[in-house]
Amino acid sequence: MNEHVNDSYVKKAKKAGYRARSAFKLEEIDKKDKLLKPGQNVVDLGAAPGGWCQYARKKLGKKSHLIAVDLLPIEAITGVEIIQGDFTDPQVRQQINDMLDNQAIDLVLSDMAPNISGIASADQARSIGLAEGVLDWSCSVLAAEGGLLMKVFQGSGFDQLRKDVLANFRSVAVRKPGASRSRSAEVYLLARGFKGISETSG
Ligand code: SAM
Repeated sequence: MNEHVNDSYVKKAKKAGYRARSAFKLEEIDKKDKLLKPGQNVVDLGAAPGGWCQYARKKLGKKSHLIAVDLLPIEAITGVEIIQGDFTDPQVRQQINDMLDNQAIDLVLSDMAPNISGIASADQARSIGLAEGVLDWSCSVLAAEGGLLMKVFQGSGFDQLRKDVLANFRSVAVRKPGASRSRSAEVYLLARGFKGISETSG
Protein backbone atom coordinates (compact mmCIF):
# COMPACT_ATOMS: atom_id res chain seq x y z
CA MET A 1 0.00 0.00 0.00
CA ASN A 2 2.77 2.40 1.01
CA GLU A 3 4.57 1.58 -2.21
CA HIS A 4 1.46 2.47 -4.16
CA VAL A 5 0.78 5.76 -2.38
CA ASN A 6 4.38 6.87 -2.75
CA ASP A 7 4.65 5.66 -6.31
CA SER A 8 5.61 8.64 -8.44
CA TYR A 9 3.41 7.36 -11.28
CA VAL A 10 0.36 7.47 -9.00
CA LYS A 11 1.07 11.12 -8.25
CA LYS A 12 1.74 11.82 -11.92
CA ALA A 13 -1.54 10.12 -12.91
CA LYS A 14 -3.48 12.21 -10.42
CA LYS A 15 -1.92 15.37 -11.79
CA ALA A 16 -2.59 14.42 -15.42
CA GLY A 17 -6.21 13.45 -14.65
CA TYR A 18 -5.68 9.78 -15.52
CA ARG A 19 -7.79 7.21 -13.73
CA ALA A 20 -4.93 4.75 -13.51
CA ARG A 21 -1.15 4.91 -13.46
CA SER A 22 -1.20 2.29 -16.19
CA ALA A 23 -1.96 5.10 -18.68
CA PHE A 24 1.78 5.82 -18.57
CA LYS A 25 2.59 2.29 -19.74
CA LEU A 26 0.65 2.85 -22.95
CA GLU A 27 1.99 6.38 -23.28
CA GLU A 28 5.59 5.21 -23.03
CA ILE A 29 5.11 2.40 -25.55
CA ASP A 30 3.21 4.70 -27.90
CA LYS A 31 5.88 7.39 -27.73
CA LYS A 32 8.56 4.87 -28.60
CA ASP A 33 6.67 2.80 -31.16
CA LYS A 34 4.21 5.32 -32.64
CA LEU A 35 1.23 3.01 -32.33
CA LEU A 36 -1.80 5.26 -32.14
CA LYS A 37 -2.73 7.38 -35.14
CA PRO A 38 -5.78 9.50 -35.98
CA GLY A 39 -8.49 7.57 -37.83
CA GLN A 40 -7.63 4.13 -36.46
CA ASN A 41 -10.30 1.79 -35.09
CA VAL A 42 -9.05 0.53 -31.76
CA VAL A 43 -10.39 -2.00 -29.25
CA ASP A 44 -9.09 -1.85 -25.67
CA LEU A 45 -9.64 -5.17 -23.86
CA GLY A 46 -9.59 -5.08 -20.06
CA ALA A 47 -10.01 -1.32 -20.13
CA ALA A 48 -11.30 -0.50 -16.63
CA PRO A 49 -10.98 1.95 -15.01
CA GLY A 50 -10.07 3.65 -18.29
CA GLY A 51 -6.52 5.04 -18.13
CA TRP A 52 -5.45 3.58 -21.51
CA CYS A 53 -8.67 4.84 -23.11
CA GLN A 54 -8.11 8.34 -21.75
CA TYR A 55 -4.65 8.41 -23.34
CA ALA A 56 -5.71 6.71 -26.60
CA ARG A 57 -8.72 8.98 -27.07
CA LYS A 58 -6.42 12.02 -27.19
CA LYS A 59 -4.29 10.42 -29.91
CA LEU A 60 -7.02 9.04 -32.18
CA GLY A 61 -9.05 12.06 -33.22
CA LYS A 62 -12.78 12.16 -33.81
CA LYS A 63 -13.16 9.79 -36.77
CA SER A 64 -11.88 6.72 -34.92
CA HIS A 65 -13.82 4.11 -33.05
CA LEU A 66 -12.38 3.42 -29.62
CA ILE A 67 -14.19 0.51 -27.98
CA ALA A 68 -13.50 -0.39 -24.36
CA VAL A 69 -14.37 -3.83 -22.97
CA ASP A 70 -14.19 -4.93 -19.35
CA LEU A 71 -15.90 -7.23 -16.90
CA LEU A 72 -16.16 -4.21 -14.62
CA PRO A 73 -18.14 -1.05 -15.28
CA ILE A 74 -16.22 1.88 -16.77
CA GLU A 75 -17.32 5.41 -16.07
CA ALA A 76 -18.15 7.24 -19.30
CA ILE A 77 -15.32 8.82 -21.30
CA THR A 78 -16.28 11.13 -24.16
CA GLY A 79 -15.73 9.41 -27.49
CA VAL A 80 -15.27 5.93 -26.02
CA GLU A 81 -17.83 3.17 -26.69
CA ILE A 82 -18.04 0.97 -23.61
CA ILE A 83 -19.06 -2.68 -23.35
CA GLN A 84 -19.32 -4.36 -19.96
CA GLY A 85 -18.70 -8.07 -20.33
CA ASP A 86 -16.22 -10.87 -20.84
CA PHE A 87 -14.29 -10.48 -24.09
CA THR A 88 -14.50 -14.26 -24.64
CA ASP A 89 -18.31 -14.08 -24.69
CA PRO A 90 -19.62 -14.36 -28.29
CA GLN A 91 -22.27 -11.74 -27.52
CA VAL A 92 -19.60 -9.25 -26.51
CA ARG A 93 -17.67 -10.00 -29.73
CA GLN A 94 -20.86 -9.46 -31.73
CA GLN A 95 -21.43 -6.13 -29.95
CA ILE A 96 -17.92 -5.04 -30.97
CA ASN A 97 -18.67 -5.95 -34.61
CA ASP A 98 -21.96 -4.09 -34.49
CA MET A 99 -20.32 -0.95 -33.11
CA LEU A 100 -17.74 -1.08 -35.89
CA ASP A 101 -20.39 -1.72 -38.52
CA ASN A 102 -18.16 -4.61 -39.65
CA GLN A 103 -15.17 -2.32 -40.32
CA ALA A 104 -11.86 -3.98 -39.53
CA ILE A 105 -9.87 -3.09 -36.44
CA ASP A 106 -6.48 -1.41 -36.85
CA LEU A 107 -5.18 -2.02 -33.35
CA VAL A 108 -6.09 -4.36 -30.49
CA LEU A 109 -4.89 -3.36 -27.03
CA SER A 110 -5.10 -5.74 -24.11
CA ASP A 111 -4.05 -4.90 -20.58
CA MET A 112 -6.07 -7.84 -19.27
CA ALA A 113 -4.70 -9.90 -16.44
CA PRO A 114 -6.28 -12.94 -14.79
CA ASN A 115 -7.42 -12.70 -11.20
CA ILE A 116 -4.30 -13.56 -9.27
CA SER A 117 -4.69 -16.73 -7.16
CA GLY A 118 -1.22 -16.57 -5.65
CA ILE A 119 -0.37 -19.98 -7.11
CA ALA A 120 2.33 -18.89 -9.53
CA SER A 121 2.03 -21.77 -12.01
CA ALA A 122 -1.77 -21.42 -12.22
CA ASP A 123 -1.58 -17.63 -12.64
CA GLN A 124 1.06 -18.06 -15.34
CA ALA A 125 -1.06 -20.58 -17.26
CA ARG A 126 -4.10 -18.29 -17.05
CA SER A 127 -2.15 -15.30 -18.29
CA ILE A 128 -0.90 -17.28 -21.29
CA GLY A 129 -4.41 -18.66 -21.92
CA LEU A 130 -5.87 -15.16 -21.88
CA ALA A 131 -3.18 -13.90 -24.26
CA GLU A 132 -3.67 -16.84 -26.66
CA GLY A 133 -7.39 -15.97 -26.68
CA VAL A 134 -6.59 -12.34 -27.50
CA LEU A 135 -4.26 -13.47 -30.30
CA ASP A 136 -6.87 -15.82 -31.83
CA TRP A 137 -9.58 -13.20 -31.76
CA SER A 138 -7.27 -10.48 -33.08
CA CYS A 139 -6.42 -12.67 -36.07
CA SER A 140 -10.11 -12.83 -36.93
CA VAL A 141 -10.83 -9.10 -36.69
CA LEU A 142 -7.67 -7.15 -37.54
CA ALA A 143 -7.14 -5.31 -40.79
CA ALA A 144 -4.12 -6.38 -42.84
CA GLU A 145 -1.03 -4.66 -41.40
CA GLY A 146 -2.90 -4.09 -38.12
CA GLY A 147 -1.24 -4.21 -34.70
CA LEU A 148 -1.62 -5.87 -31.33
CA LEU A 149 -0.29 -4.83 -27.94
CA MET A 150 -1.03 -7.22 -25.10
CA LYS A 151 0.03 -7.84 -21.55
CA VAL A 152 1.33 -11.25 -20.61
CA PHE A 153 3.35 -12.70 -17.74
CA GLN A 154 6.84 -13.84 -18.62
CA GLY A 155 7.43 -17.48 -17.68
CA SER A 156 6.27 -20.89 -18.83
CA GLY A 157 4.47 -20.72 -22.18
CA PHE A 158 5.80 -17.27 -23.05
CA ASP A 159 8.23 -18.38 -25.76
CA GLN A 160 5.56 -20.46 -27.52
CA LEU A 161 3.11 -17.54 -27.34
CA ARG A 162 5.72 -15.27 -28.88
CA LYS A 163 6.22 -17.78 -31.72
CA ASP A 164 2.46 -17.99 -32.26
CA VAL A 165 2.30 -14.20 -32.49
CA LEU A 166 5.19 -14.07 -34.93
CA ALA A 167 3.47 -16.62 -37.18
CA ASN A 168 0.75 -14.06 -37.79
CA PHE A 169 2.60 -10.71 -37.71
CA ARG A 170 5.67 -9.36 -39.47
CA SER A 171 7.35 -8.39 -36.21
CA VAL A 172 7.03 -8.92 -32.49
CA ALA A 173 8.83 -7.06 -29.71
CA VAL A 174 8.77 -7.23 -25.93
CA ARG A 175 8.19 -3.99 -24.03
CA LYS A 176 8.59 -3.38 -20.28
CA PRO A 177 7.64 0.25 -19.69
CA GLY A 178 9.01 2.17 -16.72
CA ALA A 179 5.57 2.36 -15.11
CA SER A 180 5.43 -1.45 -14.98
CA ARG A 181 6.80 -2.49 -11.60
CA SER A 182 10.12 -4.27 -11.99
CA ARG A 183 9.14 -7.06 -9.57
CA SER A 184 6.07 -7.84 -11.69
CA ALA A 185 6.38 -10.58 -14.32
CA GLU A 186 4.22 -8.57 -16.69
CA VAL A 187 5.56 -7.50 -20.04
CA TYR A 188 3.83 -6.34 -23.21
CA LEU A 189 4.08 -8.13 -26.53
CA LEU A 190 3.91 -5.66 -29.38
CA ALA A 191 3.06 -7.18 -32.75
CA ARG A 192 3.03 -5.12 -35.95
CA GLY A 193 2.04 -5.88 -39.52
CA PHE A 194 -0.75 -8.44 -39.28
CA LYS A 195 -0.30 -10.79 -42.22
CA GLY A 196 -4.03 -11.03 -42.82
CA ILE A 197 -4.56 -14.75 -42.44
CA SER A 198 -4.51 -16.86 -39.33
CA GLU A 199 -1.84 -19.49 -39.89
CA THR A 200 -3.16 -21.46 -36.93
CA SER A 201 -6.47 -21.89 -38.77
CA GLY A 202 -4.67 -23.64 -41.62
N1 SAM B 1 -5.59 -0.57 -18.90
C1 SAM B 1 -6.50 -0.29 -17.79
C2 SAM B 1 -6.39 1.18 -17.46
O1 SAM B 1 -5.45 1.83 -17.92
O2 SAM B 1 -7.26 1.69 -16.75
C3 SAM B 1 -6.20 -1.19 -16.60
C4 SAM B 1 -6.60 -2.62 -16.85
S1 SAM B 1 -6.56 -3.69 -15.46
C5 SAM B 1 -4.86 -3.91 -15.19
C6 SAM B 1 -7.02 -5.25 -16.12
C7 SAM B 1 -8.51 -5.39 -16.41
O3 SAM B 1 -8.75 -6.57 -17.18
C8 SAM B 1 -9.40 -5.52 -15.17
O4 SAM B 1 -10.24 -4.39 -15.06
C9 SAM B 1 -10.21 -6.80 -15.42
O5 SAM B 1 -11.56 -6.69 -15.03
C10 SAM B 1 -10.09 -6.96 -16.93
N2 SAM B 1 -10.31 -8.32 -17.44
C11 SAM B 1 -9.71 -9.47 -17.05
N3 SAM B 1 -10.22 -10.52 -17.74
C12 SAM B 1 -11.16 -10.02 -18.58
C13 SAM B 1 -12.04 -10.61 -19.56
N4 SAM B 1 -12.04 -11.93 -19.77
N5 SAM B 1 -12.86 -9.80 -20.26
C14 SAM B 1 -12.87 -8.46 -20.03
N6 SAM B 1 -12.07 -7.85 -19.11
C15 SAM B 1 -11.23 -8.61 -18.40
